[in-house]
Amino acid sequence: MRCVVDNTLKFKEKLEEYLEDCELIINEPLKNHTTFKVGGTADLFAIPNNYEDIIRMIDFCKKNKMKYYVLGNGSNVLVRDAGYRGLIIKTSHLNEIKVQGKYVIAQCGAELKDVAKICTKHSLTGFEFACGIPGSIGGAIAMNAGAYDGEMKDIVEECVVIDDELKIKTLSREQLELSYRNSAIQKYGYIALEVKIKLDNGDNKNIKEKVEDLTNRREEKQPLDVQSAGSTFKRAPGHYTGKLIQDSGLKGYSIGGAQISNKHAGFVINKGDATANDILNLIGHIQKVVKENYDVELEPEVRIIGEE
Ligand SMILES: Cc1cc2nc3c(=O)[nH]c(=O)nc-3n(C[C@H](O)[C@H](O)[C@H](O)COP(=O)(O)OP(=O)(O)OC[C@H]3O[C@@H](n4cnc5c(N)ncnc54)[C@H](O)[C@@H]3O)c2cc1C
Repeated sequence: MRCVVDNTLKFKEKLEEYLEDCELIINEPLKNHTTFKVGGTADLFAIPNNYEDIIRMIDFCKKNKMKYYVLGNGSNVLVRDAGYRGLIIKTSHLNEIKVQGKYVIAQCGAELKDVAKICTKHSLTGFEFACGIPGSIGGAIAMNAGAYDGEMKDIVEECVVIDDELKIKTLSREQLELSYRNSAIQKYGYIALEVKIKLDNGDNKNIKEKVEDLTNRREEKQPLDVQSAGSTFKRAPGHYTGKLIQDSGLKGYSIGGAQISNKHAGFVINKGDATANDILNLIGHIQKVVKENYDVELEPEVRIIGEE
């Protein structure tokens, strides 16, 4: 144990020498950075203030064979209880949003709700679908987030990324290979730095009404007052996942502090004292029961990280 901490401290000191404007934290609890609010600590944790420091961090990690992981708002990530042996890079300080005519350019850490507010202020329509998704735009492009009548794929024009050779380059919509909850960013391990979306001029009153309507629909159907990562599983082709779970008689079923929401069976929630293990066991139980009942394999949408 002692040896691991000494080693982490050595890495921290060495890496901080390379960085221009970022301090590193040792043993940061990741439950403070995910909406599930569970999981262990990260050996090293950073919130960079510029793109160059991200490149320096990854370069250092690659050279020193250290793992790294980019975290946006942590609204689709489950961290295992044993934590993450490597560097977590959280994007929340990179959150500028600019409007240029019908284009909105947002840095990766900008929250979708803030982008939506700016779109409304400028009477730009097309982004309303994302107003209630509690993620960052970097996480949304990586996951091709979508809701109701829209998804990122419909509005993205281009995205500036760090590629696998640590070069900054701009990817077109086609190059982003956006598909259901997937993208080139996930596939090739790129890091999204800046997302440019193209919207239409709209009527301010209509935009506000649509945002309000979608917010009400979300509040009515989803357990937004408790901790979760949204829909736990991807949509199974030809099925509504929530219905498969509900029809299996699992609504309200719990393991430890993890429960299948009584409001929406597609959501696994943390009742307050769940461990990541409770959530993982519940995910496994749902998969087993749904497979037995309907011969459907449910794939988690939530990204699971950390030591097993
Ligand atoms: C209550 C609730 C409701 C939700 N509703 C929806 C919904 O309607 N539709 C929907 O699609 N999702 C929904 N989600 C899930 C989640 O909010 C989205 O997937 C969101 O886009 C994730 O963004 P994030 O910043 O939180 O990403 P994180 O959870 O931090 O990360 C998700 C993935 O993206 C990667 N990532 C994050 N930032 C970057 C970056 N800059 N570059 C490269 N990779 C990156 C991470 O490594 C990880 O693999 C919901 C979640 C909750 C809690």
